[in-house]
Amino acid sequence: MSQFVSDAPAAAPEPRSRFPLHYQILAAMVVGAAVGLWVNAGERALPDATVRFEPLPEGGIAVTEIGRGGRTVFRQTFPSVAAFEQRFREADDLYPEARRGGPHELPVTERRLHFSEVREEISLRYTRQYGELPMVNSPDVASRAELAQRHPWFLDEYDRYAGTASRSLTIAAKTVGDLFLRLLRMITVPLIVTSLVTGVAGLGSSERVGAMFGKTLLYYLATSFLAITTGLAMVNLIRPGVGANLPGGGEGAVAGEGRSLSGIFVGLVEEMIPPNPVAALAEGDFLAIIVFSILLGLFMIFVGGKSGETLRELFAAGFEVMMAMTVFIIRLAPIGVFAFMLYATASQGLGVFATFGWYLLTVFLALVVHSCFVLPLMLWLVARRSPWQYAKALSPALLTAFSTASSNGTLPLTLTSVERRAGVSNRVSSFVLPLGATINMDGTALYEAVAVLFIAQAYTGGAMSLEQQIIVAVTALLASVGAAGIPSAGLVMMAIVLQAVDLPLDAQGLIIAVDRVLDMCRTAVNVWSDACGCAVIERFEPKPAAVAGVAA
Ligand code: ASP
Repeated sequence: MSQFVSDAPAAAPEPRSRFPLHYQILAAMVVGAAVGLWVNAGERALPDATVRFEPLPEGGIAVTEIGRGGRTVFRQTFPSVAAFEQRFREADDLYPEARRGGPHELPVTERRLHFSEVREEISLRYTRQYGELPMVNSPDVASRAELAQRHPWFLDEYDRYAGTASRSLTIAAKTVGDLFLRLLRMITVPLIVTSLVTGVAGLGSSERVGAMFGKTLLYYLATSFLAITTGLAMVNLIRPGVGANLPGGGEGAVAGEGRSLSGIFVGLVEEMIPPNPVAALAEGDFLAIIVFSILLGLFMIFVGGKSGETLRELFAAGFEVMMAMTVFIIRLAPIGVFAFMLYATASQGLGVFATFGWYLLTVFLALVVHSCFVLPLMLWLVARRSPWQYAKALSPALLTAFSTASSNGTLPLTLTSVERRAGVSNRVSSFVLPLGATINMDGTALYEAVAVLFIAQAYTGGAMSLEQQIIVAVTALLASVGAAGIPSAGLVMMAIVLQAVDLPLDAQGLIIAVDRVLDMCRTAVNVWSDACGCAVIERFEPKPAAVAGVAA
């Protein structure tokens, strides 16, 4: 393998160890997941029951699950037949006499209750089958008292769960994982600022900054559209939503605020211009910080002379120190990743995967095509790098992105891996990565497109027209640009895509249950695309004679 040489100010190669970081992280991930599955704190199997559908005296429908001894084990009411039919897609199979009145009963099997609890919030997932149809309810309750009031029939199970050692272990894992994420967040803002200012100022001329910006945006746009196209192709091919026994009874939408497209766009532009850069730094407003840092670097070039040079040296020195701090914190990555994986697997439970099999498979396959074929092909053909070597160099960042589901949180690792392990120059990476973590999200864009088409297929039972799919593609791109690099951001932003094609926002309730696992996958793809962008863009940068890449 040829040797990387980089022009990054702080780019010393990562020290060799007998058990390299990426293997440490991989091992931590596997062990964490295994322990989490073993612990699987919240999952409890419940005895079979019967569900009874009946009209309410005041109108509407009551759905009551009755356990042994005639005891009510769950109850939902709907104010009207229409509300009932809207909630249960297979309403006819469930309660054929809904419109004619009279009671109807079905067996309830495969009943599982799944608790997870972090700090004050209890999340409860209740899965079961009404006859053949899978059902999921996933309400969040703030306290035991609220649980007692809203779902009293689950209180005993909760109390049993609350006393277990595995619950304490899951909470401890989340706390440790969060501490690691806090450490990463602590260095993210100073790292972006020093790295970006040094990188831009190091470009030496405003033309080069402009050219880099143009190429970067072109790359973001091209790969995001490729990702969306792959997602749409896959969802049209597999059609996971058509005829799916979609779980009914999801608990409403996550995306409370329905923002319009133009609103999102104007919001983004506004976010880019901080009225007070110090406040933006304090608040960690990524876009504002990036814009201000680019301008600062640019004006250091314009002013030049002693002032420009002094500032450049100051930022370069700051960057070197921040990089050293990052490398130190990254040594803790295996602990953080272990904790996150334990928490993720213990709090998800396995039962839910069976219900959403085809949907999960569709998103997963589309992500695999994009990240294992499309992007590597680009790396190989355009950047002239070996995709395998590049992925290996990036593995600490990719594994951390997967476990934490946060591109912003992973940014320090991405920067270090791209510069120190893959030998990309700081000028390129400091520009492409922070901006990419905020606005280039191939995985999220793909996910938005697949999820919305899945929902549409499940709701309407058929395919979407081409025009509508184009609307989905464009809005999915905007949603991915607008999504922050934090867990579940993509789920929240889905509102604009759903709205654009007139689907109800609370349809999201159907896919929340499996969002975390897909979030982990799409975040790794988001980070991978940013990293590939560095290699692609560097290929077109005039480089000093000393800089060399790995030839494919
Ligand atoms: N968690 C993703 C990220 O940080 C964003 C998303 O929810 O899609 O990149």
